[in-house]
Amino acid sequence: MKTYLVNQEGYYGDFGGAYVPEILHQCVEDLKVNYLKVLESKEFKQEFEQLLKDYVGRPSPLYLAQRLSHRYGCKIYLKREDLNHTGAHKINNAIGQVLLARRMGKTHIIAETGAGQHGVATATVCALMNMPCTVFMGKTDVERQRINVEKMKMLGAKVEPVTSGNMTLKDATNEAIRYWVSHPEDTYYVIGSTVGPHPYPDMVARLQSVISKEIKAQLLEQEGRDYPDYLMACVGGGSNAAGTIYHYINDERVQIVLSEAGGKGIETGLSAATIQLGKMGIIHGSKTLVIQNEDGQIEEPYSISAGLDYPGIGPMHANLAQQKRALVMAINDDEALRAAYELTQLEGIIPALESAHALGALPKMKFKSTDIVVLTVSGRGDKDIETYLKYFATYKQ
Ligand SMILES: *Cc1c(COP(=O)(O)O)cnc(C)c1O
Repeated sequence: MKTYLVNQEGYYGDFGGAYVPEILHQCVEDLKVNYLKVLESKEFKQEFEQLLKDYVGRPSPLYLAQRLSHRYGCKIYLKREDLNHTGAHKINNAIGQVLLARRMGKTHIIAETGAGQHGVATATVCALMNMPCTVFMGKTDVERQRINVEKMKMLGAKVEPVTSGNMTLKDATNEAIRYWVSHPEDTYYVIGSTVGPHPYPDMVARLQSVISKEIKAQLLEQEGRDYPDYLMACVGGGSNAAGTIYHYINDERVQIVLSEAGGKGIETGLSAATIQLGKMGIIHGSKTLVIQNEDGQIEEPYSISAGLDYPGIGPMHANLAQQKRALVMAINDDEALRAAYELTQLEGIIPALESAHALGALPKMKFKSTDIVVLTVSGRGDKDIETYLKYFATYKQ
């Protein structure tokens, strides 16, 4: 049977693999040998599921959004990852990986972060599990995301400002890898999305797959059938989307719609729409689509949403797009802002700017009145209020 999941060699079609320096080969190999054994062990599952329930607050609701449904002429359910502890889906993955690190005998957690959301999730779990934590963050981002930096510090993490390159996410990632190379024995590197060398994309997808596991049970209860007609999610590196589609990936009855950040428009040079604009390259140890210039140098992406401006894309999603299993749309800044105001005014839910890109695809769809749509609200909008207020005059109704 055709599958869109990872193969034995760590590839999704043409994409994926593990392109790491010689010195990290053993670390990645150890992870590869251990991750499935641990993730599928009874003891891990028990501890992970307990924390998801009592600490994160899962299952997250599957909420039938009546007024939004009415507007788009179909039945729209929202998967409420915004209601998780720390306000987004990233905590699911952070808990899973820190539990794995402990079982592999690692004593120091490192992570990279751009907007700071993954850094905060990792620092939170490290506080909970009493593990020392260092978060690498570009100096530009440290200045732009002061609140998240303060949160990480309050949680006991060390924030390491990175001053190489453009001083943003790509540079923080390089620095985290550099640190890992020089401390391979005791350090565990928590990657925040379905990116990086194999087995990270598969591991992160599995840890986030609780989202679609819950959707199945919740739809069965509320609709009498366990699958929707459409699944919709936004894509930065791809982890909330991977979790949303995981248990439906080979079920062709379900149409997958992914939104990437169009920025000011894909033809403007100010965009983060990697699937539309990227070319095959290697980023973060993975062969995938990368936004790059003619010399193969990675270009700085742009989006109004700090969580979506990654210059690569998870190999799983690059393959889903290439195989036409997923419909991928670029949603521009203004479309996402409009969608965020619409959800706020129709349903009383202020979404994260990232999630607003998933909502921004709704007006571009042609639904039938009998269609059932599940759209993942990956996070809450508290962190984006300043940006929203800047555009209040334009989008208020
Ligand atoms: C980080 C983040 C994203 C983007 O990351 P994915 O791995 O693509 O899910 C989306 N939404 C929110 C709220 C985030 O914090």
